[in-house]
Amino acid sequence: MQLIQYAKSFLLYEILFGFAKTFSYMFKEKATLNYPYEKAPISPRFRGEHALRRYPNGEERCIACKLCEAICPALAITIEAEEREDGSRRTTKYDIDMTKCIYCGLCQEACPVDAIVEGPNFEFATETREELFYDKDKLLENGDKWEAQIAANLASDALYR
Ligand code: SF4
Ligand code: SF4
Repeated sequence: MQLIQYAKSFLLYEILFGFAKTFSYMFKEKATLNYPYEKAPISPRFRGEHALRRYPNGEERCIACKLCEAICPALAITIEAEEREDGSRRTTKYDIDMTKCIYCGLCQEACPVDAIVEGPNFEFATETREELFYDKDKLLENGDKWEAQIAANLASDALYR
């Protein structure tokens, strides 16, 4: 036994074994991605950055029912609303404090008109806290930007909702 140990040491067995192991991995499929240049696919149910959606004619979907505000466990949503001249009810203020949000998705679940959604975007890191206090303009802008993908994701999940 001792002799085998001496032979292994003399022949640099451990080092050669290590080199062989490393060399074998050079020809295997990579387990890592070169992010941000390569990105992994994400689920249609992914709960990322929030967005407020519009109907195809440009009208806001949100009817200011405040269900999302009521259900939010983190108290991250603040809504103010008033009646328009045409009698419809719309928000005058729709804020989400993204520093409070826990991305539970309950706001999206509660919304009767699919207005507030958590979109596919997860790359919205900021340098300051203030940038994470989203207002209605920012949320509508997100909705306009991601609408195609959000609509496709909601459609693919429609059977299970
Ligand atoms: S995802 Fe959850 S915590 Fe975040 S705003 Fe919606 S309900 Fe609130
Ligand atoms: S986003 Fe949906 S749940 Fe929230 S106030 Fe508007 S319509 Fe109601």
